[in-house]
Formats: sequence, C-alpha cells, structure tokens
Amino acid sequence: MSVLIAGSLALDTIETPEARVEDAVGGSASFAMVAASFFSPVQLVGVVGEDFPQAHLDYFRSRGIDLQGLQRLPGKTFRWSGKYLPGWSERVTLCTELNVSELYRPQVPPGFRRPDVVFLANDHPRLQRQVLDQVEKAGLVICDTMNLWINTAREELLALLPRVDLLMLNDEEARLFTGETFLLKAGRQILAQAGPRAVIIKKGEHGAFLIGPDQIFLAPAFPLEKFKDPTGAGDTFAGALAGFLARAGGLTGMNLRRAMIYGAVLASFTVADFSFARLRSLTAPEIDQRFQRLREMVAFD
Ligand code: AMP
Repeated sequence: MSVLIAGSLALDTIETPEARVEDAVGGSASFAMVAASFFSPVQLVGVVGEDFPQAHLDYFRSRGIDLQGLQRLPGKTFRWSGKYLPGWSERVTLCTELNVSELYRPQVPPGFRRPDVVFLANDHPRLQRQVLDQVEKAGLVICDTMNLWINTAREELLALLPRVDLLMLNDEEARLFTGETFLLKAGRQILAQAGPRAVIIKKGEHGAFLIGPDQIFLAPAFPLEKFKDPTGAGDTFAGALAGFLARAGGLTGMNLRRAMIYGAVLASFTVADFSFARLRSLTAPEIDQRFQRLREMVAFD
C-alpha cells in the first residue's frame, strides 16, 4: 500500500489576529504528506529551492516519506503569504511567488508509478496533469484545487477532472467554479459536467460535505475552542483521507466516510499551532481518541 502525493512545498508568511510568522514550512504537499504518513507509506513528487531548510526534509524522512521524487532546483522555494482578518472572519492571500515551481517539470520515479492512491494536492493543474501522465496505474486519483487555478487555469483544470475519481475544493471555490450558491447543486453540477466520481466540499470549521452519485455524507469538523493557525487544515484533511484510503484498500463500504473523519481529526491537530508544530508530537493514541470522540458526537441512533 502506498500513496503518491504531489503538490507544493512552500515557505509561508502568515499573519493571524494574534501573531505573525515568517518562512514557516508549509505547502499543500507538505501538510498532506505528513498527515498521510500517519496511515500509509508516502511517496512525494515536488520541488524546493536552495533555501528550503534541510532540517524539514530530515523531518519528512523521519516520518518514512520517500523523497526520491523531490527536486532541489537553483533559486527560491515557492512562497505564499496570507493574512487572517480580525475575528478570523476571512483569509486573504497577500502574495504567491511561484519561484522554482514556475520552470519545474515533475518527475515521477519508476518505483512510484503504480500507487494505490494518487493525491494531487493543490498546485497548478498543468503540474497535476504532468504527474498523472507519468502514473501507469493507480487505484484511486484524488485532486485538490483552489480559487487561483479556477480563475487562471480553468481549462487545464477542466481537462484534468475526467481523470480524477475524487475532487476536493472548499465551499467558496465550489461556488466560484460552478456559479451555484447552494453547495449540493454545485457538487452535482461538478459531477455531471466535469467528470469526477465524487466531490468533497470542505467548509472549514463547519466540516466537509461529500456528494457522490448515490450518496451524501456530512463530516463534522472536530470542535475546538481555540486554535493558532488554520493554514494547512484543508491539505491535512485531504492528506489524511488519502493515506487512510490507501491503507483501507479503496472506496468500498464506509471507507470514504471513515477517511473524512480521520481527515477532520488530523486537521484539528494542525490548526493547534503554526506549520507542523503540533503534528510533530502527535501520536496514534491521540488520533484514535479524537476519532472516537467525533463518533460519539455524531451518534444519534
Ligand atoms: P490550506 O490552508 O489548506 O488552504 O493550505 C495552505 C497552504 O497552501 C500553504 O502552506 C501554502 O503554501 C499553500 N498554497 C497557497 N497557495 C497555493 C497555490 N496557489 N498553489 C499551491 N499551494 C499553495
């Protein structure tokens, strides 16, 4: 069992209503692969620049992540900066610098080309396609995206989606992508027109909404009174889901529902601190305990 994860590795500058951090290690693939590594062996395809700290690569390796598909190119690492508005009401992107990811061409090592699950974490749809083109056979293909790519690379995204089993996006992005206000309608439109087998719409602290041809499932977020930084919650959710599905052997039975609950649990740990600070000390019993508590919170019969 294995999960192949491709996406961004980044240095993030984040302002919250309470603090500011510079050059925190982030990126869609980083959060996703650390989360997935709690469930399944992970193979990474990605790129960093000369300035990406070696200590973080050592941390990824210490989680058993196979970095053969990681390129280190001359130049600066992808950088993103974002700001949470007062009251955490909204996040705005202040700056996205593609840097080395602009000229990068993903290389999927021969040993990575037949994974159980491929997770195309948020990145330019061109890069996501280039990864998928090199995969010979995959049990399941999951893809995440964001408003930037819906706005600037819509055609490339649309061309990718018939090759995707499960699309993830957040509520605002689902509305932007479809022009529909109501999420169920937006999800159904994506299934009918764009081609994935199911859609998961992430709704931040309100949980996640699965829309499939013959099922709907609502996964709550794990309720928290306090968090430090929500950055990476969506990537963590998706990575844990992908890792769990690789371990569970695909989409049969209740697997996707369980995977969404594990996604919610892992995301609840990511937001407790900046970057990977909380995930670094996370243990399997802590994951199981929150999984159990969420199960109790939604039981009514
Ligand atoms: P999330 O909070 O789950 O939406 O993810 C935030 C992470 O996504 C940050 O660590 C960023 O470095 C990364 N990110 C932001 N914008 C992009 C982008 N356009 N492409 C790839 N990754 C991005």
